[in-house]
Amino acid sequence: MRDKVFDYIITGAGSAGCVLANRLSADPSVEVLLLEAGGSDAHPFFHMPAGFAKMTKGIGSWGWSTVPQKHLKNRVLRYTQAKVIGGGSSINAQIYTRGVPADYDAWVRDAGAQGWSFREVLPYFKRAENNERYANEFHGYGGPLGVSNPISPLPICEAFFQAGQELGIPFNPDFNGAHQEGLGYYQLTQSNARRSSTSVAYLRPIRGRSNLTVRLRTQALRVVVENARATGVEVVSAGSASVQLARARREVIVTSGAMGSPKLLLQSGIGPAEHLRAVGVPVVHDLPGVGGNLQDHLDLFIIAECTGDHTYDRYNQLHRAAWAGLQYMLWKKGPVASSLFETGGFWYAEKGARSPDIQFHLGLGSGIEAGVARMHNPGVTLNSAYLRPRSRGTVRLASADPAAPPMIDPNYWAEPRDRELAIEGLRMAREIMRQPALKRFVMAERLPGDALKTDSDLIDYACAHAKTDHHPVGTCRIGPANDSTSVVTPDLRVIGLEGLRVADASVMPFIPSCNTNAPTIMVAEKAADHILDRLD
Ligand SMILES: Cc1cc2nc3c(=O)[nH]c(=O)nc-3n(C[C@H](O)[C@H](O)[C@H](O)COP(=O)(O)OP(=O)(O)OC[C@H]3O[C@@H](n4cnc5c(N)ncnc54)[C@H](O)[C@@H]3O)c2cc1C
Repeated sequence: MRDKVFDYIITGAGSAGCVLANRLSADPSVEVLLLEAGGSDAHPFFHMPAGFAKMTKGIGSWGWSTVPQKHLKNRVLRYTQAKVIGGGSSINAQIYTRGVPADYDAWVRDAGAQGWSFREVLPYFKRAENNERYANEFHGYGGPLGVSNPISPLPICEAFFQAGQELGIPFNPDFNGAHQEGLGYYQLTQSNARRSSTSVAYLRPIRGRSNLTVRLRTQALRVVVENARATGVEVVSAGSASVQLARARREVIVTSGAMGSPKLLLQSGIGPAEHLRAVGVPVVHDLPGVGGNLQDHLDLFIIAECTGDHTYDRYNQLHRAAWAGLQYMLWKKGPVASSLFETGGFWYAEKGARSPDIQFHLGLGSGIEAGVARMHNPGVTLNSAYLRPRSRGTVRLASADPAAPPMIDPNYWAEPRDRELAIEGLRMAREIMRQPALKRFVMAERLPGDALKTDSDLIDYACAHAKTDHHPVGTCRIGPANDSTSVVTPDLRVIGLEGLRVADASVMPFIPSCNTNAPTIMVAEKAADHILDRLD
């Protein structure tokens, strides 16, 4: 790589980076370098849907935490972010959701992200999609990304839908169709019972392209800026002490994720001058918005004990796990083919909300994610997250050393309204679990437990147990060039510099009312058209 000049350098092979590597290298005359700090996804856990259960426990992640959360009694939360080819799409729960039209229309109306209305982004969702069931106004097939129906739901899922209906929450066959509200099965980024990460969907088919160089275990340390133009990236490969320079003839495209992208810009001296000086990074370009506007979904959960073996918890025993492995190898079915979060839905905490503001994920077991308790007997988990928080946090550097973890402050519940609506969502989750339809399956709520009833009880419980839903966005937000909180213009160019764009979850001005993988892939698909000058 030394002394080699590329047309485009892409800094991170995550959900967005792999999409861009594919789209930009489609022209054989263009040289593309894709950098990824993490390693390969060769381990089978990355490909088996149930491998997700291992992911928040350390495989393929940076091992970061938040700073103490002031409004959660100063608790430090584990903050899993991907460090592997495919990024979040290689380690996530594979839930495929897009939010609602009003999410994207608000990007335009309230954040000045011209060109990102739902009408304008829908074609990019569809361009990515290879949907196994739907072909209509909202869905496409024939794209790279596998979008499939769950393979191994359990009878408790159907009872969950009935419980919703007993409470007046309808069944919804497609959360990404005309209406979001209701309970139902999620569609999943899977294909043929395997995870469809962007590494698998976008990179594998083009492995033979000689104009695409992929460097794993290689971290971008700094974007090099000369005369207000990004001209290259300093990188270091694992196990090597020497810093190399990769030069970019046309553009550097920052796709290091909602934490990694602001971190890289800050390390490069691009960000709020005061902060850069405080940590000893020479200021290259004072851009106050970098690392601000952090938004995330905070996840609360109920865990109930089941009346019998109704979830996948039973497969924690070795002989059953072996049988599950065999089932998967032979028939592509059974627990290993389940992402464990295949069922859920959307409903309202706030009366009159413009669209659902609570999302549920039914976990077919207990202790699936790191930090979530496992029951001695089989259990079931129902997560609830408030979807449109007003709290805003930051990503900052702890020091000028690129190896230092970032200081992640989602600032959860800084706005009391976020807390109120989150607690309302938790109460709704509890109500669903108590409906007659679930009586056959659910013996009793164990967490928070019947004894905790008042708002103050539930707030205490949440402060002790809440976790990230892994949906950070907004830290390099799109906006008008004359707004000091904007980092990129609607064509994703970094404000005030040439040859530099950001194109991942960090550019979203507001968090969409859903999981964030599909929206990030949409951002990258659209970014490719901006870079290739296929849009105004
Ligand atoms: C545990 C977990 C579960 C989730 N579940 C779901 C889900 O079920 N459904 C859903 O829609 N969304 C889910 N998400 C969220 C979704 O996966 C992310 O929003 C999405 O992957 C973000 O994509 P990105 O390209 O912005 O960043 P990432 O996918 O995080 O990609 C960034 C990449 O850049 C690399 N990188 C960072 N810094 C550097 C550097 N300096 N040099 C080189 N490389 C660098 C990282 O290693 C990483 O691979 C989940 C996320 C996690 C972590």
